[in-house]
Amino acid sequence: MKYYPKPLAELIGQLSKLPGVGPKTAQRLAFYILDMKKNEVNQLGESILEIKGKLTYCSSCHNLTQNDPCYICGDTKRDKAMICVVENVKDIIAMEKTGEYNGVYHVLHGAISPIDGLGPDDIKISDLLTRIEEGVVEEVIIATDPNVEGQATAMYISKLLKPLEIKVTRIAHGLPVGGDLEYADEVTLSKALEGRQEI
Ligand SMILES: [Zn+2]
Repeated sequence: MKYYPKPLAELIGQLSKLPGVGPKTAQRLAFYILDMKKNEVNQLGESILEIKGKLTYCSSCHNLTQNDPCYICGDTKRDKAMICVVENVKDIIAMEKTGEYNGVYHVLHGAISPIDGLGPDDIKISDLLTRIEEGVVEEVIIATDPNVEGQATAMYISKLLKPLEIKVTRIAHGLPVGGDLEYADEVTLSKALEGRQEI
């Protein structure tokens, strides 16, 4: 870094903290930014600042949003009787891309993982129960990842919801075991949704 002027070295240092960005890529990006027009650099800087300042989580489903409730919870055409439970915000995007789902979501922000010391109280499970107790929900589709943690979370939720006498289904069909929902392609994911089974 000693070869670079300080501001450039600083930018390279910050960029190389990003996932998938090594020192060489960070250097390439930094020089690219240096060559960009001033207004473009301002826009980039503003976008980075806004992501922290202007985004919040939906108080109903915990989706990432600019307005609370999020656009999905606020949409009167969405079926509020169906909740799809996912681990992360990125999973909502994956499900939405299938174009096959018209219900609402619930983001757990994680999964139960005893190895990592994560129990049911560390993720947004109790809020899910509160939503269901409002009495509108008829089906909960559990779309946690098809790995050990996702499966443990699915089983925990299904046991928790059993006394409430609502339909609880699990998508898994066709999804690679040990995989990650957000990386599943749209066709696989719509098939998984279509082939959901009661648990
Ligand atoms: Zn929402």
